[in-house]
Amino acid sequence: MFDAAIVGGGIAGVATAARLQRRGLSTVVLEAHGQPGGCAGFYRRKGFSFDVGATTLVDFGPGGVGGELLEEIGAPPLEREELQGYVAWMPDRVVTLDRDPAAWAVERARAFGDTPAHREFWALLDHLASAFWQASRRGVRLPIRGPADAIQAVRSLGLRNLGLARYLNWTLADALKRAGLEDDKPLTAILGMLIENAVHSTVKDAPLVNAALGVTIWGAGQSRAKGGMRGFWQGLAARYRELGGELRVGRAVERVEGREGAFRVVTRKETVEAARVVLAVPIPAAARIGPPGLAEAVAPYRRRDDEAVGGAVVAYLGVPESEVAGQVFQHHLVLEDYDKPLGDGNNMFISVSGAGDLASAPEGCRTVVISTHCELAPWEGLSPEAYEAKKDAAGERLIGLARRVYPDLTRDALVREFATPRTYERFTRRPRGAVGGAKLSLANANQKAVPHDVGVRGVWLAGDGTWPGLGTVACCLGSRIIADDVTGRR
Ligand SMILES: Cc1cc2nc3c(=O)[nH]c(=O)nc-3n(C[C@H](O)[C@H](O)[C@H](O)COP(=O)(O)OP(=O)(O)OC[C@H]3O[C@@H](n4cnc5c(N)ncnc54)[C@H](O)[C@@H]3O)c2cc1C
Repeated sequence: MFDAAIVGGGIAGVATAARLQRRGLSTVVLEAHGQPGGCAGFYRRKGFSFDVGATTLVDFGPGGVGGELLEEIGAPPLEREELQGYVAWMPDRVVTLDRDPAAWAVERARAFGDTPAHREFWALLDHLASAFWQASRRGVRLPIRGPADAIQAVRSLGLRNLGLARYLNWTLADALKRAGLEDDKPLTAILGMLIENAVHSTVKDAPLVNAALGVTIWGAGQSRAKGGMRGFWQGLAARYRELGGELRVGRAVERVEGREGAFRVVTRKETVEAARVVLAVPIPAAARIGPPGLAEAVAPYRRRDDEAVGGAVVAYLGVPESEVAGQVFQHHLVLEDYDKPLGDGNNMFISVSGAGDLASAPEGCRTVVISTHCELAPWEGLSPEAYEAKKDAAGERLIGLARRVYPDLTRDALVREFATPRTYERFTRRPRGAVGGAKLSLANANQKAVPHDVGVRGVWLAGDGTWPGLGTVACCLGSRIIADDVTGRR
């Protein structure tokens, strides 16, 4: 009998398991796929290693939210390359999003305007970001569900920042409106791209506080592990095993039976007994396999969020180094048209592996991963031929737009593969291929987010469907909250 069984070996599951193991519990991770990682995983092809979804680690430096995870579990420092920032290729201008706050302040004034309204808007965003990044690093817990959480929230935010809590009811659009900037196309476009990537939302709907955090993630310290996510997982999985944790792959959990103190986690290969269960899978999947009472407990959240989902189309390219020459930065945002909706190839994120990163690409080559967001419905119900044609067209569109940055891209590509919501459904078991959790709005974020404990004794929910939401950094923060709960530290 294990003290805890963790279903799902994505970053949320393994981070939670490693913390619990380090705190003295016996744990097992049951992962359906042949290796851990999920949406922050990797796959190998012809000597290249591609990041399937997440390409960057957010706040993994010392003192950061991710850094705290590595420290708690006693992992050796991660070999990683700090990103200097992104370059945003807008239809009519090129903007450098430098990670250095002073350089970014100068650049944004140059690129988007330096009126009193612009200054007021950025000052508010900077202030919120700095206060709430600090709160995240200090382990703030939302939704607040009792006096202990409330005390922790006050402690994390700090007394002098308490007044900022009033912005929890604002959207990003409210802040733009207050500054009279809601019709500023370039500004709303860059904000829209950043928050879609970081918090899965839009300028209109994004809660202001989450938007402020999302818009500043590269300033909070973004890095790429040596060897990409493969390098990251080699380190994390090894450390978990070293602590005595059991990472069992090829174990698709079919159902969880029993109750606190005596759960049976059933897979085709084996049934595992555990006193507690952490379901580190998307909420609809947790509802399907969870123990008695769980489906009912998450039903209100599902009624609200099940349609607020989206997917991704991704191109994985293995190319000769010469095809990505000529750029100082390795990460780029590209927008084709201000007047078209974001997603579906109108905007995209390009991530290139580092020079000399031979764990990602063979000598003289690089990996290039290009992603865009998409709706799910257009990818459903297609014939095999129609699906293949749509996938190829979407992938080629990404490559075409990326040639604005790298004109020779794919002239002599060694690998050229595309992923769609179907790919994510198949390889990461995300229901309908939806990635990134629910699209954030005031109706489902922060105090209204899915909590890690929904009231079924001995069961916790982890991952990007729960607070604080999307991304490696959010999953690390969530894992800390669950570990504190399980080990009675809250
Ligand atoms: C295209 C794209 C780009 C992204 N870029 C970034 C980025 O640059 N930086 C960043 O921080 N984040 C990024 N993200 C978001 C980030 O990847 C995810 O939010 C995060 O990886 C989610 O982790 P998770 O553990 O919650 O879920 P998942 O990664 O989905 O992990 C769940 C795991 O559970 C397993 N599983 C499911 N069902 C079962 C079952 N029944 N039994 C056993 N196992 C099961 C799955 O196989 C999977 O491994 C990106 C996402 C995408 C799609």
